[in-house]
Amino acid sequence: MISYDIALQKVLNNTMSLAETEIVTLDAALGRVLAMDVVSDMDMPPFDKSAVDGYACRRQDIYNELKIVEVVPAGKAPQYNVSENLCIKIMTGAMVPQGADCVLMVEHTEKTKEGHIRFLKSDTQNNIAYKAEDVKRGALVLQKGILLNPEHVAVLASVGCFEPQVSIMPRLSIISTGDELVEPYEVPGLSQIRNSNSWQLLAQAQQMKIKAVYGGIARDNEEVTYQMINKAAEENDVVLLTGGVSMGDYDFVPEMIKKTGFEILFRTMAIQPGKPTVFGMKGKKFCFGLPGNPVASFVIFELMVKPLLYKMMGHQFVPRILSLPFAHDFRRRAAERLSVIPVVVNREGFVTTIDYHGSAHIHALIGANGLAFIPIGKTTVGKGELVDVRLI
Ligand code: AMP
Ligand code: MG
Repeated sequence: MISYDIALQKVLNNTMSLAETEIVTLDAALGRVLAMDVVSDMDMPPFDKSAVDGYACRRQDIYNELKIVEVVPAGKAPQYNVSENLCIKIMTGAMVPQGADCVLMVEHTEKTKEGHIRFLKSDTQNNIAYKAEDVKRGALVLQKGILLNPEHVAVLASVGCFEPQVSIMPRLSIISTGDELVEPYEVPGLSQIRNSNSWQLLAQAQQMKIKAVYGGIARDNEEVTYQMINKAAEENDVVLLTGGVSMGDYDFVPEMIKKTGFEILFRTMAIQPGKPTVFGMKGKKFCFGLPGNPVASFVIFELMVKPLLYKMMGHQFVPRILSLPFAHDFRRRAAERLSVIPVVVNREGFVTTIDYHGSAHIHALIGANGLAFIPIGKTTVGKGELVDVRLI
């Protein structure tokens, strides 16, 4: 059985970015992967800019009474220069006039007589944001492959990139398997349960801005499962199935993935939950048989499917993992797999396990804000010992 790390490597080593790109407007750029390098078309700030509302003057004159020669609002250029014992009233964001080397804050001055002011403090900062101090014209401000967050959208806007080129999204299909499943709008009969995996996976994809196609429930029938995988694989780049991958009499998803022409790269990995994870590829298409238990399908999507989908979009996904201390002793029975357990991280960064009954217990995730990783070979974690935690 291969480790999660090796399995992830196998997945990513076989994944290429989709070549196609598309243009989006700025209001649709959030969450997309930038497919171009973006350079600044101007200096920022584009001119020496006042950082405060106040009076632009010469530092050598600040203890003298100053005569106001002009008022300059933001968006207007000063008409006059500043010279001895003169000042120009200036608003935040306005251009600092020639001759001035500092701006006295309004609240640090008083009016002496009509059109004149006086500085009340003993010293002042320059209160000027200098031309090009943030970014120089022509500088690379955003690199191809960045996942666009709101601050990136702001940078795009600031350099006039109003129609950024982004990667297209992989076409993704989601299929659940199992005779016991009914849809959320149905009332389960005796021995039935509601299909939660499909909706969970659709939501996980949606969080990545991917509108996955829901293929429905494949009943535990080889022919039906085969047909559904086949159709999904024809119409999509990635197919996700859940259930039917363990050792039961009706678990023939791996065989059917294979039968549709996918080369199976692995069928199990040393992780808990998520041991029976099947991964196959056919050319540039991929198929995952994810475990049926909801926590397992949630975890494997986050740990394996997400990096693959992002790589297809040209983005190297790096999860936010912190090394944090356990708040108590922790013990587990077996240690031959990497264990992923839902935990709560408090403000001080201490990690506490929560009531968790195993991979079917999806409700446990509601109270968790992190997944802790207990490495292979480790049965106990002492109080205060550091563990890797991925925030969710
Ligand atoms: P399986 O691998 O098909 O034996 O499924 C393992 C467990 O996950 C069983 O208890 C299934 O009932 C459950 N399960 C499978 N598919 C789903 C689903 N779509 N939603 C919720 N639970 C599921
Ligand atoms: Mg099943």
